Formats: sequence, C-alpha cells, structure tokens
Amino acid sequence: MVVDHRPMWTELGLNLEAHDALLDVLNQLYKETYLSQTNRPEGMDYLDFVMSEIHSLRIKELQEAKATGRKVIGTFCLFVPDELIIAADAISVGLCAGAEFGFEEAEKLLPRNTCSLIKSFFGFKLNKVCPYIEASNMIVGETTCDGKKKAYEIFKNIQPNLYVMEVPQMKNPKDKELLKTEYEKFKAVMEKISGIKIGVDRTKKGITVVNERRKALYRLARLRAVDPVPISGLDALLINQVAFYDDPVRFTDSINRICDELEQRIQRGEGVFPKGTPRILMAGCPMAVPNWKLPSIVETSGAVIVGEESCVGERGTQNLVDDSGSTVGELMDAIVDRYFKIDCAIFTPNEKRLEHIMSLAKKYHVDGVINYSLQFCSPYTIESYSVERALIDAGIPAIRIETDYSQEDIGQLKTRVEAFIETIRK
Ligand code: SF4
Ligand code: SF4
Repeated sequence: MVVDHRPMWTELGLNLEAHDALLDVLNQLYKETYLSQTNRPEGMDYLDFVMSEIHSLRIKELQEAKATGRKVIGTFCLFVPDELIIAADAISVGLCAGAEFGFEEAEKLLPRNTCSLIKSFFGFKLNKVCPYIEASNMIVGETTCDGKKKAYEIFKNIQPNLYVMEVPQMKNPKDKELLKTEYEKFKAVMEKISGIKIGVDRTKKGITVVNERRKALYRLARLRAVDPVPISGLDALLINQVAFYDDPVRFTDSINRICDELEQRIQRGEGVFPKGTPRILMAGCPMAVPNWKLPSIVETSGAVIVGEESCVGERGTQNLVDDSGSTVGELMDAIVDRYFKIDCAIFTPNEKRLEHIMSLAKKYHVDGVINYSLQFCSPYTIESYSVERALIDAGIPAIRIETDYSQEDIGQLKTRVEAFIETIRK
C-alpha cells in the first residue's frame, strides 16, 4: 500500500514543490550511484529501504515519538554527545547536508566562499525541504570552525530553537575543563527540554546504546582490511551516513547482520572488487548524504575505498566511553574523556590526527590516500599540508583533492583520480 506522506510534510511546513524536486534528485542519484553497483551484500537491502524512506517512514517515527512526549534533537557535529540525548529518552538526528540545493538563497545570507556543507544546511532550511530540521525540538550547533560558528549567528534568526555549545580548540587540561562544563550545561538543557532527570541508569543506557553502535561500525571497518574487500567503500560510507539518522538499536542490529554476512564472504574469499585492486583511504572533511561524488569517482576508476578518516567514518567511531563508573559524575567524566580525544582539524596542534591517518593506512593496507577537503574549509584544507608531509615521510602516495557539492568538476576529478590510481597500481 502506498502511503501518502504529504499531509505530514505539510504539517511540518515543508515546501512540497521544492521537496519533490529534492527527492527526485536524491532518488536519481541513489539509483545511479548505489543501485548500479554489482555484487552488493544482501544486507544492504536494509540500507536501500532506509534511504527510500528517509523523508517518510523515519520522519513518521519521529513524529509518533514526539506525540508521546519524546524530543527530537538535531545535531551538526560529532562533539554533541548522543549519550546524553538518549539518556533523556530523546532522539538524535544528524542535520549535516550533502547536496547543492538552495545555494542561491543561502548566498543571500552567507558569503559565496563558505563551504558547501554550511551553505547546504542553510539552503535546506531556507527552501523548507529538510523534514529533520523541521521535526527537531531543538537544534544543537557548536563553536567548531569559524564558518559554522559565525553562520549559526545568522541561522539563529531563521531557526530560533538553535542552542550553541562551545567546543575547545586546544587539548590542554583547561580545555578539557571547558568541554566538561559545556557537557554539564548540555545535560541540564536536555533535562529541561525532556522533563527527565538524567541519573546513573539513564546515563549508562545512553553510553551502552552509542557504544554498541560504534562497535558495530568498527567491526564493519575492520572487515574491510582483507583483500578482496567484501563491501564497497560507497556502501560502507552509506552505512556510516545512515548511522546519524536511523534508530540506533535497530541500526546496530542491522549492521551486525551485515557484518555476519561479510564474514561469510571473507571465508569464501569473495569480494566486491578483484583481489589486488588498488586500496584507497579517504582522509578529511566529513561526507554527508548525498555527497557521494568523490567515492563514486574512485570506485568507478579502478580502485576501492577501504577506510574513511572522517567524522562520517573512523574519526567518529574510534574510542568507546568507559561505562564502569557508578555515579553520574564518573560517567560524565568518561563521556568527556572520550569526546576530548576527537581529532577534528579545528584543534591546534593536531598531531593525533596524523597518527590516526598513519595507523589507518597501515591497518587497511592502503596503496594511497586521498586527502579530501571541501573548498573554503580552512581547518582541513590548511591541515592538508601536515597530512601530506606525514604521508610523504612514511612513503605513502597521496593526492590532495579540494572540491564542493557541484557536479561541474566531475570530469576533471576523474582524470586526476585515474592518474593517481595508475601510479599506485601494483
Ligand atoms: S569535522 Fe569537526 S566540526 Fe565537522 S563534524 Fe567533525 S568534529 Fe564536528
Ligand atoms: S567542512 Fe570545514 S568549513 Fe565546512 S563546516 Fe566542516 S569544518 Fe567547517
């Protein structure tokens, strides 16, 4: 039975015409990028289903949860601790947007030389096409890069339920104290908005749910270390992207089932690309749905992506929260400890990120690294220099690619990627 979701979208205040146009683009892109792949794990059916319902069934679930009093919290960054959102029986949804949509409107409020990710969530909001933004009871921004920090000042005018959390920029003890203060404040905000006191049991539950999701994603990541690789980089990226939208428990179960299937594939020596296919690590800016441009180019040019050093990847999934504490204070300290290790390029100095990239390159036996950044993203673009130096010193081939969400540079990127793959082919 075909369900008409238009009344729900109208109730959320979406612009149906613009929303239809966005869905058309999304569906077409998904078909071309994902459904055209061959030999995908059967478990990817679940992801195909989630993607086909991403603006409908999942939104219906959120609306039904809200009707029972639960809150929906929209987030843009890994620094927002999902543990505390779940502890308040609320639902966390990622709002980072990966499509060039509504940029004309966005550029009336933002300079043209703003990164695509920021322009995209402005464009989605201004065009009223994102049901996740509209379904959120509160949206959490953070003072990470200058672009987001200043953009939130403007965003607040069109999205009054925006709450901005301060994030430190260095890794000294006083910076950790700042993060702790901010997480205490955020916990209080979550308690207020949900009307739920976050005690020991609730905090532990939040930690367990998020740790289990991280473990499943990390299990998936490790299975990509073998040759031939049992899953494409595109599919693995999609799984990491959907982690930000889907119900965490259902998602974790589904990913563990996919991992079971991948383990069987590995036992049979079965892969998605032939053994010996050049192996690539992507390092840099996060890729939000449907930013699949570069991975698609790589995997249609004779290479396979075996890992992502990205917030939508292992920067986001590495390190668990220690759940052994027996007081809320101890558990909060454990949450702070875990998040303080995130090696986003907004930090200075950021040696740990370089070490992480090197360890991933080794762990996944990569032949080359694509050092990726979005145009106008100062933190990652400038840090590219240090990443390249470290890779050169380690004898690992690397290429720097700076792009945006447009489709105009596809030909040029393909030429560069193909040339790079030729140089790393064994
Ligand atoms: S790259 Fe940095 S600012 Fe962006 S989501 Fe990741 S942690 Fe947050
Ligand atoms: S891609 Fe770079 S500039 Fe854009 S929001 Fe992320 S850190 Fe900021």
